[in-house]
Amino acid sequence: VQMEKQVVDGLREVFHTEPLHRLITERQADIEQALKQDLNRNTYNTSLFELISIENDIKLVESDMADWAAPRPVKKNLNSTLDDVYIKPKPLGVVLIIGTWNYSWAMILQPLVGAIAVGNAAVLKPSELSEHSARLMKELLPLYLDKEMYQVVTGRVLETQELLKQRFDHIFYTGSSTVGKLVMEAAARHLTPVTLELGGKSPCYISKCLYIRRITWGKFANCGQMCIAPDYILCEPSIQDRIVEEIQKTLLEFYHKDPKSSPDYCRIINTRHFDRVLALMNECTIALGGESDRSQCYIAPTVLKNVLPHFKIMQEEIFGPLLPIITVNDLSEAIHLINAREKPLARYVFSSDKTVFFSLPVSGGVTVNYVLMHYTVDTLPFGGVGNSGMGRYHGRHTFDQLSHHRACLIKSFAMESLNDARYPPLTAARLRKAKFFMQHRLCSCSGSAPLALGVLFELASPVWLSTSRYL
Ligand code: NAD
Repeated sequence: VQMEKQVVDGLREVFHTEPLHRLITERQADIEQALKQDLNRNTYNTSLFELISIENDIKLVESDMADWAAPRPVKKNLNSTLDDVYIKPKPLGVVLIIGTWNYSWAMILQPLVGAIAVGNAAVLKPSELSEHSARLMKELLPLYLDKEMYQVVTGRVLETQELLKQRFDHIFYTGSSTVGKLVMEAAARHLTPVTLELGGKSPCYISKCLYIRRITWGKFANCGQMCIAPDYILCEPSIQDRIVEEIQKTLLEFYHKDPKSSPDYCRIINTRHFDRVLALMNECTIALGGESDRSQCYIAPTVLKNVLPHFKIMQEEIFGPLLPIITVNDLSEAIHLINAREKPLARYVFSSDKTVFFSLPVSGGVTVNYVLMHYTVDTLPFGGVGNSGMGRYHGRHTFDQLSHHRACLIKSFAMESLNDARYPPLTAARLRKAKFFMQHRLCSCSGSAPLALGVLFELASPVWLSTSRYL
């Protein structure tokens, strides 16, 4: 165990995340500029929604990595009382990280932080849709990180498919569920494990018209292009109009009269997505917004009322600034509606009665009386379930996700007679002894106690063999 700890210290010299930290701090202005070109994102939002969490994970690695990488002793059964038994996280090898365009830096660099900390090499494939960020990432990474260990590959779908034909030791994919299935299929050819960080329709149930500005912020930040943005609202008919009024007030406060000229309001990534999002409004009644400008990929913050579950907008993840409201008679109708759909990445509840939250069906994560914020707690695992993904990351969870947890047992040479119970010629008495030692555990023994117990067993062995049938 001591030697394992020394190896960890040695690896820390080589695999450290400090160069990545320098990259995002020294080149912050370039990153902000690239995101301005990709999404019209302003500099403050880039820090708030991407750089802070990357930096946070780097700091966490620097302070806690020695603990994460250290051998993790486990409880032992009587058979292994005198042995060293522990789990040792080991590097997997080469990790392929494929990212999206909506948070093009965080979706690549956050998993990379964990990959570096474990000691993995990585190939990074940023999304081609956020082209300025992808180009800049390819240019900057070799200036800060070891080129042999970490490489950026840019390209479109064909290039990604070509990459997926190669054998990796882990694939960490962030993107849509549709492409996630293709990634998993490609990984299966080499039996490569995958982490799939996907999306879905994250519902927001409002039982009372409280803190609507929190929802307004979470829905329209990044122009709604966020995997955990509240996708739709469920509420009772009596509060629908109040909710619309509150959203209208908040939008005025956030983006003033004309969101198009607000420095805080983003754009849709390209005209293909612009057309897709706009088409989702077709059957709906617009309560707020609805304006658009294709030449700028601008869609105003839009609220749609009296939406019905069979409308097109309720059949796919919106990933844009449209917020449909569906009215339900009560919580059980809301649950029924949610249950009829795929398991989403997040669920939100606004209620003064916190027990409401317990009745909600499973999802990747939950935030009560706020939206998005469970993402920012670095000790919580972030990931989906079912159609919204598999695996988890952030902080220590990334480290664990991208390492192999090797089971280690270093047997002691002492007490060979305990092992005799398993050797032929087997008898009923030996089997009883073997069973006893395999099935019982020393709960809180430490120091010399296991040794003393072992000696006792050794001495008492003949007596024990004749009495163990009564145990
Ligand atoms: P996408 O699946 O279209 O693309 C993601 C990546 O996959 C890109 O790098 C792209 O080059 C590659 N790709 C696209 N088509 C491919 C194909 N046929 N074969 C191989 N590779 C292919 O996703 P997107 O549009 O960039 O992102 C939007 C989706 O991502 C939404 O569903 C959103 O919810 C989800 N998302 C999830 C998270 C999360 O953390 N869970 C974060 C951000 C976005």
